[in-house]
Amino acid sequence: MALSNSQYDQLMRTYELRQLDNEHRLRRHYENAYALIPELKEVDEHVSSLSIAQAKNLLEGDDSALGQLRERLSLLFARKKELLLAGGLPEDYLERQYACADCRDTGYIGGRKCHCLQSRQTLFAGPHYWKQCKDDAVVILSAYLSSPKTLP
Ligand SMILES: [Zn+2]
Repeated sequence: MALSNSQYDQLMRTYELRQLDNEHRLRRHYENAYALIPELKEVDEHVSSLSIAQAKNLLEGDDSALGQLRERLSLLFARKKELLLAGGLPEDYLERQYACADCRDTGYIGGRKCHCLQSRQTLFAGPHYWKQCKDDAVVILSAYLSSPKTLP
């Protein structure tokens, strides 16, 4: 059964909220990790200044800049993982966690509906949506609790 426009909007709102929730979680993780492991912030600052400097080199025609950047960044990223683990945090603590990695929680892949959106669409019109998509309910509730105006 096809969804009405407003049902579709409601469903897409759950995707928006999930993305917002991801964003908030990532920000909290950064704050937490920086407070716990100050060297991590230094490594991140190093990553940005290095990227800017190498971008400049690249623009100035230094073709080896990209390869050098990749090499140095991979060392810094490895250092970040070491620091996270040494600080008792998971090594992917500062990476985005997607409920659906295929569409990165957007519902679409290159303009086509992702499988997660297709299955949600089928479920959404039925009576057991919230039971079967418990994660959506949790995300919406937490978004509501942090900002009541975002409730779909
Ligand atoms: Zn998906």
